[in-house]
Amino acid sequence: MKKVLVISNDNVKRIGELKSVAKILGDIHEIIVITLDKNKKQIKGEWEKAWITNEMIGANIIESIIELSNSVDYIISSGDLGLSISPILSVKIDASLITEVTDVEKSDDTIIFVHPIYGGKAIAKYKAKKDKVVVSLRENYFDPDPLEGETEAEELLIKNKKVELLEVKMEATEGISLEDASVIVSGGRGIGGKDGFKELFELAKLLDGAVGASRAAVDAGWVPNSLQIGQTGTVVAPDLYIAIGISGATQHLAGISNAKIVVAINKDEEAPIFSRARYGIVADWKEFLPIFKEKIKQLKENEQ
Ligand SMILES: Cc1cc2nc3c(=O)[nH]c(=O)nc-3n(C[C@H](O)[C@H](O)[C@H](O)COP(=O)(O)OP(=O)(O)OC[C@H]3O[C@@H](n4cnc5c(N)ncnc54)[C@H](O)[C@@H]3O)c2cc1C
Repeated sequence: MKKVLVISNDNVKRIGELKSVAKILGDIHEIIVITLDKNKKQIKGEWEKAWITNEMIGANIIESIIELSNSVDYIISSGDLGLSISPILSVKIDASLITEVTDVEKSDDTIIFVHPIYGGKAIAKYKAKKDKVVVSLRENYFDPDPLEGETEAEELLIKNKKVELLEVKMEATEGISLEDASVIVSGGRGIGGKDGFKELFELAKLLDGAVGASRAAVDAGWVPNSLQIGQTGTVVAPDLYIAIGISGATQHLAGISNAKIVVAINKDEEAPIFSRARYGIVADWKEFLPIFKEKIKQLKENEQ
């Protein structure tokens, strides 16, 4: 009987994704949840054991995680949290390490971990060689488990605190996060400035989506860093990705390899983004967007 330890942020979707993978990997599921909520005592879902901590700093919780890892076969986490704790954890407990996992295949007793390489142009499959395995998942690639019931959590004992966190300033974000958005309207250098992005925010609102950006738009200071999509930004997997004034550099495409439908609006018909797009509009976005928005408004009105 394999035992799985899940480490997650306090986000039901993330916990659900991890639980769905935990079910493939083993039968006994334990969880550590890291949360800012000081009053939280219950974790969604049924867990054999649950711990909770307000400690956000990896260096401070790693020893406690190592201790709990001794009695389990798999330690799984996801996103930035997964990428920050998994490498050190695997070295400390002498485990196999597999990161950025986007699929898990099980046949008989063999478990294969899948992970995209070369910016999503190819996929690699891995089998763990050690008895203990540390896995970190990409967010939004697994159907979240519906998480029935709740489990009472105990406080995670933190020993040997190395760093003190003085303050957390949450960035004020409106609407849906990029990771959770099923529609993303993304702008690049071709948008030309902050005013142009206002129009993208309007379009995203109409479509109940979120706004993303290329690195060029972020570097120009038109939108915050947190909106950057790509190799060095967020990796997203929306149903619909609308790329406006984005050329489609490989580093940008690396962030949208799992987007289901890509629509590109670009005035250069040779722009590489068109080779990734299912639908392409060769136009100046300033001329196209007002017509597009008007059409969406009409369709929404007709729906009501
Ligand atoms: C190590 C490294 C990591 C990187 N990581 C990332 C990353 O995570 N994400 C990322 O995005 N980039 C990343 N980059 C940068 C990447 O290589 C590109 O430089 C960047 O993606 C280009 O952004 P862009 O498409 O907005 O700009 P450009 O390449 O300049 O393209 C602008 C596009 O807008 C079109 N356009 C202009 N005006 C209009 C108009 N009025 N209407 C319609 N279309 C118009 C143009 O035809 C052009 O195709 C990285 C680079 C490196 C070296």
